[in-house]
Amino acid sequence: MDLILFGPPGAGKGTQAKVLQDERGLVQLSTGDMLRAAVAAGTELGRKSKAIMDRGDLVPDDLVVGIIAERLEKPDCGKGVIFDGFPRTVAQAKALDAMLTSRGRKIDAVIELKVDDEAMVGRMESRVRENPGEARADDTPETLRKRLGVYRQNTEPLLDFYRGQDKLVTVDGMAPIADVSAAVRGVVGRVGEAS
Ligand code: ADP
Repeated sequence: MDLILFGPPGAGKGTQAKVLQDERGLVQLSTGDMLRAAVAAGTELGRKSKAIMDRGDLVPDDLVVGIIAERLEKPDCGKGVIFDGFPRTVAQAKALDAMLTSRGRKIDAVIELKVDDEAMVGRMESRVRENPGEARADDTPETLRKRLGVYRQNTEPLLDFYRGQDKLVTVDGMAPIADVSAAVRGVVGRVGEAS
């Protein structure tokens, strides 16, 4: 089963992806985590991405599509993947469809965590407060607003793309974490039975 967790920065995609990873044995692929690892390791990809990420813009499609294509080759992805933070543009979504089709796979469901922007700024501020010393370079109120703007402009149009494929399921991301997990679990259970 291959799934996409969809939603703006701070919506809780990573938290829910980890739940599914633990409970379903799916592999979480977060392009944000992969890019941060590349930055930390000082690879060419990291050098190309760092300034772009720090200002809250999108890394070019070919670079993120490349890291996903490479990662999908690994055997642990065979059982299924939860895409977290990818795709973020229609071009990425089309590239992902092509990659999966060539492997005889497809996206089974896109789970949208629906939240409101102002709450996201508050969440990020408390995440920074509660984890001193671990703040990401892009976790400032200004950059978060920029990332939310990029999300609205470049990523939100994907909702229509997946609605058109009849794959979009929306969950209330403002509910308590356990309730969001229960709703996500419900969706995944139904998709699992249907496939
Ligand atoms: P968040 O969901 O909190 O914005 P991520 O960890 O998913 O954070 O992404 C952090 C940054 O990494 C993004 O602002 C962007 O610069 C880059 N990035 C991550 N995924 C992608 C992607 N699919 N396409 C382009 N850039 C990406």
